[in-house]
Amino acid sequence: MLGGDFSRAREDLEAVSAAGADYVHFDVMDGSFVPEITFGAKFIEDLRPWSDLVFDVHLMVEKPERHIARFASAGAGIITVHAEATSHLWRVITMIKESGADAGVAINPGTPVSFIEPVLSIADYILVMTVNPGWGGQRFIPQAAEKIEELDSRRRESGYGYLIEADGGIGRKNIGELYSMGMDLAVMGSAFFGEDDKASFLRSIEESL
Ligand code: ZN
Repeated sequence: MLGGDFSRAREDLEAVSAAGADYVHFDVMDGSFVPEITFGAKFIEDLRPWSDLVFDVHLMVEKPERHIARFASAGAGIITVHAEATSHLWRVITMIKESGADAGVAINPGTPVSFIEPVLSIADYILVMTVNPGWGGQRFIPQAAEKIEELDSRRRESGYGYLIEADGGIGRKNIGELYSMGMDLAVMGSAFFGEDDKASFLRSIEESL
């Protein structure tokens, strides 16, 4: 949704659904963990009736443990927290699961996979930031994407069940490479909303993969 126009959020949401996306991704920013401020749980709650898609809520906020219950009640299907934003990562993941949502763990470009090693066995999603978080429309960081391969081989070795999600600067030109590295979910903002025919854009990407 960050790639859209917040004054037309409901139309944007309906466009995401109509185009055939599998999820809709919400970037919640608090002005502290990242410089920008976007929206809170009420925004998600108000949009919830207008789509059947899974709401994938990415909390770029400090101490996300303060907000889990509220985002779950607002209708989040997946709640992803940053490993760098809490001292209680295991507990936050447990809180998310107890709320009924699936739990994701996000890592910034400068954070190694080893930092989240202890929670790989319990996370439902691992989100690899492929730009520095905080704004839409940023340039993709190839070195960050290498962590996708590492996460893919870790889950094969250990039988972990997480899906790998990549977020930031993804579009037609790099999605094939990320998919071949082991990415399961691609978050697209600017690339998606910049297309006039969003359904044929998604279809052509699916066919190319
Ligand atoms: Zn995001």
